[in-house]
Amino acid sequence: MNDLLPAQAARYRRLVECVAGVLARYGYSELRTPVLERTELFVRTIGEVTDIVEKEMYTFRDELNGESLTLRPEGTAACVRAAIEHNMLYGTPQRLWYEGPMFRHERPQKGRYRQFHQVGCEAIGFAGPDIDAEQIVLCARLWRELGLQDVSLEINSLGDAATRAAHRERLVAYFEQHRELLDEDALRRLHANPLRILDTKNPAMQQMVAEAPKLVDMLDAESAAHFDGVRERLADAGVACTLNPRLVRGLDYYNRTVFEWVTTRLGAQGTICAGGRYDGLVEQLGGRAAPACGFAMGLERILALIDDGDALGGLQPPAAYIVHQGEPAARFAVEVAEGLRDLGHAVVVHGGGGKFAAQMKRADASGAQYALIVGEAEVAARKVGVKPLRVAGEQQMLAPDAVAALLSGHC
Ligand code: ATP
Ligand code: MG
Repeated sequence: MNDLLPAQAARYRRLVECVAGVLARYGYSELRTPVLERTELFVRTIGEVTDIVEKEMYTFRDELNGESLTLRPEGTAACVRAAIEHNMLYGTPQRLWYEGPMFRHERPQKGRYRQFHQVGCEAIGFAGPDIDAEQIVLCARLWRELGLQDVSLEINSLGDAATRAAHRERLVAYFEQHRELLDEDALRRLHANPLRILDTKNPAMQQMVAEAPKLVDMLDAESAAHFDGVRERLADAGVACTLNPRLVRGLDYYNRTVFEWVTTRLGAQGTICAGGRYDGLVEQLGGRAAPACGFAMGLERILALIDDGDALGGLQPPAAYIVHQGEPAARFAVEVAEGLRDLGHAVVVHGGGGKFAAQMKRADASGAQYALIVGEAEVAARKVGVKPLRVAGEQQMLAPDAVAALLSGHC
């Protein structure tokens, strides 16, 4: 779990603002849910035989009522729970997004943390391929606006429940034939969740898994048409994609479209965004059946992809730093600062006293454009000394209005 120091926090905030801006342009509204949910919510939705539920959840018992609670490992379940709980799904489809920390007890490594952050997006109540494509196009726009390079789209379809059942049978039979190649994880999943074996990262199993029966070859007519519809719309939008028949999601609730945005620039942790359709989830959580589609992006991985000195920039220095000496000057400094802040300027008033020279060092270190200097003479004249810190220039005495005009020229 990471501390975000000021410069990193500023980048994080700007990234979220940028994502929020794009989401707003597609009509998505923000939803904020608690970081804790009943454990059962995740077990029911994510699925028992998944990495997350088997070994990654931070789960504890609430001492007060004995309830089992879990720090959220992802956002979709809570988003759907909240939408049902607040009757948001009657008659109106919803486009929702969320942002915040997620928690998974994984082995930490670059791009993989125990507290990480996601922005997620859920469109609930939409059945057609247009919404799957819209979400993917939205992502492509975001990568473009963030200046991300070397990001590509992989896509697959998991079909409907009957197709998955038929595929599952063929898959289990195939894996049985190659039992000697299966590792411990795969053997455990063989009957509980064979689809997940396709997702294995074990190099010794790659060849065998690559030749396994492919779900996308067995799609029912409707799912095939849906999948074609998504790909046609992506082509219309000029978004290139690669069919990856082995792409399955880590969570159980997906059907039909699944997609991942991947990069080769982050080593093993190359997936920056993943999602797909989950038509059965709302009903499974007790709501009136509603088809849905969503995705989540990992903000740490996206930040890692954005080079330093980029559009997100670093810390924003103040416009001015006020140094002052003596009690009347300290009070006049605050008055001037408040006036400038009324106009939207960032102004730091020196705190903690000290000699002028030491205060000027702080002013310089703050990155401010100007030091504003207030001593006895300035208080008497109701003016401040203004000294440019980033360019050569003489100190001059100016009234607060003139200082405001000067700072505006720098905005
Ligand atoms: P992986 O295969 O890398 O474990 P996942 O399938 O578990 O990923 P999702 O549940 O789909 O991941 O989460 C969506 C996105 O959130 C991922 O694509 C990734 O960018 C990010 N993410 C997931 N787990 C972590 C983590 N532990 N640390 C940082 N980012 C993460
Ligand atoms: Mg994972």
